[in-house]
Amino acid sequence: MQRDNSDKKRNPFFVMTKNDEAKPLVSLVVPIYNEGEHILANLQTILKSAQTQWYDLELIAVDDGSRDESQKQISMAATHDKRIRLISFTRNFGKEAAIQAGLADARGAVAVILDSDLQHPPELIPRMISIWRQGILIVEARKQDRRNECLTNRLYAKLFYSVFQYFSGFDINGQSDFKLIDRKVIDTYLSLPEKVRFFRGLVHWTSYPSIQIYFLVPQRVGGTSRWSRIKLLRYAINNITNFSSAPLQIVSIIGFLTLIIGTLFGAISLFQKINGHSIDGFTTVILLLVIIGGAILMGLGIIGHYIARLYDEVKARPAYIIK
Ligand code: UDP
Ligand code: MG
Repeated sequence: MQRDNSDKKRNPFFVMTKNDEAKPLVSLVVPIYNEGEHILANLQTILKSAQTQWYDLELIAVDDGSRDESQKQISMAATHDKRIRLISFTRNFGKEAAIQAGLADARGAVAVILDSDLQHPPELIPRMISIWRQGILIVEARKQDRRNECLTNRLYAKLFYSVFQYFSGFDINGQSDFKLIDRKVIDTYLSLPEKVRFFRGLVHWTSYPSIQIYFLVPQRVGGTSRWSRIKLLRYAINNITNFSSAPLQIVSIIGFLTLIIGTLFGAISLFQKINGHSIDGFTTVILLLVIIGGAILMGLGIIGHYIARLYDEVKARPAYIIK
């Protein structure tokens, strides 16, 4: 990014070197949950691949309530490398909370958010930073394809992104949480009052100048995905309702359609009764009961979901608690 030198001297996010050159500080935010013994090596690989002479690095490792040796491993990494800082949660609050906590702690002029399992190639970071230096505030890394994932996961992701786009109007297909965001975006993100967050969607929503780059997702280093199908489904539903109230309108549409069909049905039955050959009652009544009952319960479910979301936001409990 083009900034004049006097501006850099005043800016707390730039570190002055001995020969009075301003080097930006880049914060790497890494959420970690039960990553086991390979986390130490992964953090070292991330720092090694990301470091260049053009900027300074700090790495904020957010331990999202791991119950294995992750925290011990990160502490060990932090004692060997002063660029690493550990934040520990009291329990598992989820990746979104971990990203938020990492960003709140970041001191850099820019932050890069990436997974700890090396599925977000850290070699791309220098390229992302050189794009940022040209004045782009967001660099979004998109998955080039999902070849490494199973068919169900691919279909599931496709369905989620299509529904998300349909309801919210934002196309975030193939996007990941692997992103570079400028200080301006970090501050905007942190100033949002909402508790339940969808990082990917919200960064896109800020609509600051952005560029997309593509990457091939490598195999996970150690372990398996920390997301169960149920956790993913809940995450998907929350994210869609986070960005759109359209499902509530669908309830009205279903109600309206049921009313029209009901009126038609009623008119036909009445007409047939007047003409002396009324339709067989029992099946019709059961059918109507089941259809209308289903529609009402579904409507209540959707409304209930939004009320639950309101309840969570109104309670305004913190998104995470640091140990
Ligand atoms: N993660 C986390 N909290 C969770 C689940 C995952 O901080 O509750 C971290 C995890 O340690 C990893 C990143 O989020 O660094 C992505 O998780 P994972 O690799 O399991 O997800 P996937 O690659 O399957 O999307
Ligand atoms: Mg992964």
